[in-house]
Amino acid sequence: MAEVLLGFGANLGDPIAAIEAALRRLAAEGVRITARSHFYRTPAWGKADQPDFVNLCAAGSTTLSPRGLLDVIQSVEAALGRERRERWGPRVIDIDILTYGDHAFDEPGLTIPHPHLTERAFVLAPLLDIAPDRVIAGRRVRDWAAGVDRGGIERIG
Ligand code: ATP
Ligand code: CA
Ligand code: CA
Repeated sequence: MAEVLLGFGANLGDPIAAIEAALRRLAAEGVRITARSHFYRTPAWGKADQPDFVNLCAAGSTTLSPRGLLDVIQSVEAALGRERRERWGPRVIDIDILTYGDHAFDEPGLTIPHPHLTERAFVLAPLLDIAPDRVIAGRRVRDWAAGVDRGGIERIG
C-alpha cells in the first residue's frame, strides 16, 4: 500500500463538480481518499489569458503502482472530458501525482515528486491544509509554501 498526494485543477465548465467527480471516480478505481483540502480559486499559471482555476489536493492510499496510478488518472481525466491540447491551457480536469510514498521516479512520462510542485502556490496552498509537515524534495511543505507568493489565491470552500 502506498500513500499518495494528488493535485487537482480545473478551469472550464463546473470546476468544483469536475473535481468532486474525479475524487469519486478515483475512489472507485482503487485510490482510497484519506484527506482532502479546501477548494481554492487561483490565477492561471503558465498561460495567463484563461479563466482562474479551482485547485484542491488530496491524500490517498492505493495498491496501484505509480504507472498504474498514472493510467487510472488519465482514464478519469478522459472520462470527464479532458482534451489534450496545449500544455498549461484551459482544461475541464487535471490530476497530477504529487508524491508516491517517499519514492522518486524520473522516467519518460512520469516524474515523481511532481517537478513543479515546490514552486507552485496553487499546489502548495491546498497542500498546506493536508500535509504541512510532509517533507518533499528535502523541505517541509510549509517551508516551500513560505517561499512562494500566494497573493491572488482565495479559499472558496
Ligand atoms: P504540468 O505537469 O506542468 O502540471 P500538465 O498537468 O498540464 O502540466 P499534462 O498535459 O496533464 O500536463 O500531462 C503531460 C504529461 O505529464 C502526461 O502525459 C504524463 O505522462 C506526464 N507526467 C509526468 N509526471 C507526472 C506526474 N507526476 N503526474 C501526472 N502526469 C505526469
Ligand atoms: Ca498539472
Ligand atoms: Ca497533468
